[in-house]
Amino acid sequence: MHEDIKTETLTTLAQLDKHLRLTDEERAFGTLEGLLPIAIPSHFLSLIDKDDPNDPIRIQAVPTMHEGEYLSEEDIDPLAEADHSVTARLIHRYPSRVAFLVTDVCAMYCRHCFRRRFTGSFQGPASRAEIEEAASYLKQHRQVKEILLTGGDMMTLTNEKIEELISIFRQAREDLVIRLCTRMPAANPLRITKELVSIFKKFNTAPFYLMTQFNHPRELTPEAVTAVSMFVDAGIPAMNQSVLLKGVNDDADTLEELCNKLIFSRIKPYYLFQGDLVKGTSHFRVPIQRGLALEKELRRRLSGLAMPLYAVDLPQGGGKIPLIEGYLKESSGCNAWNFMTVEGKKREYPKQ
Ligand SMILES: *Cc1c(COP(=O)(O)O)cnc(C)c1O
Ligand code: SF4
Repeated sequence: MHEDIKTETLTTLAQLDKHLRLTDEERAFGTLEGLLPIAIPSHFLSLIDKDDPNDPIRIQAVPTMHEGEYLSEEDIDPLAEADHSVTARLIHRYPSRVAFLVTDVCAMYCRHCFRRRFTGSFQGPASRAEIEEAASYLKQHRQVKEILLTGGDMMTLTNEKIEELISIFRQAREDLVIRLCTRMPAANPLRITKELVSIFKKFNTAPFYLMTQFNHPRELTPEAVTAVSMFVDAGIPAMNQSVLLKGVNDDADTLEELCNKLIFSRIKPYYLFQGDLVKGTSHFRVPIQRGLALEKELRRRLSGLAMPLYAVDLPQGGGKIPLIEGYLKESSGCNAWNFMTVEGKKREYPKQ
């Protein structure tokens, strides 16, 4: 595998129509304007079952006219990231960690993307000045322990630009834990090369974590697993953030298989996100009540290691909170706590 291997990326409905017979709903996306662009790398395209218009891989990548449907409770920026921006590209929402928007470009544009106010908006990678501005903020805010390099997809940058980015942040803060957030192993695993991974090995004063996004077990191809393994073998642990998506993974069997496959591939399931209230994504949203039932069923089936945390990022910038149906029931009298076991039985634990 060499870096010069070029994978084709499809970017228009006309190109898609040649490979997949588009449905009327998909074709009608062409009448909408100003929405998230199309990009599907040939690797991801090859995973689509062409005979199934509802294929879980297809609906994550091929847009439909439903992206033009807006609900009144939806917002373009429900996490209020713009309000929490402290420099052009740096979001400081939680005291101990920040998110840096490396670029708005992605290898693939996921139709459920929650950051579509920014993603694919033709702004391009952060400039050297913008990176330095963020680095100087981090120098002055030592309470920040972790930075998420996100976007967009940081792995769309050239190796040279990635090395520049890391070296500026490392120079400012040797002690900063760096999370490499990327959908690349799923979208276009051949982008992950030995040369790319070796960049991170040069900056070893504080750990890196690879944060992937796999939403369906079929995305965990041998190529994808090999791509992630290169990081893990280099001492960079891998964690996965899935989004709970209607028609993709909103059933216990699919989620169970996904999480077990992740763990087997040395990728720890970290979060399972409830869909954010982002404009044009309502067709993907699963009711929280259903999500809680799935979480409960998964807790019965999966090991603690394979179990992700189901969480929601609350609207109006309320932040992330865990979603778990309570196992602690109301307190009985004054001497004991009442519990419901995972199997639905009653138990008590003394208060003192
Ligand atoms: C999710 C998020 C983080 C990281 O949160 P963790 O719960 O630590 O994974 C940091 N900054 C922003 C803006 C986020 O949305
Ligand atoms: S890779 Fe991430 S940022 Fe890019 S479109 Fe998909 S979800 Fe959005």
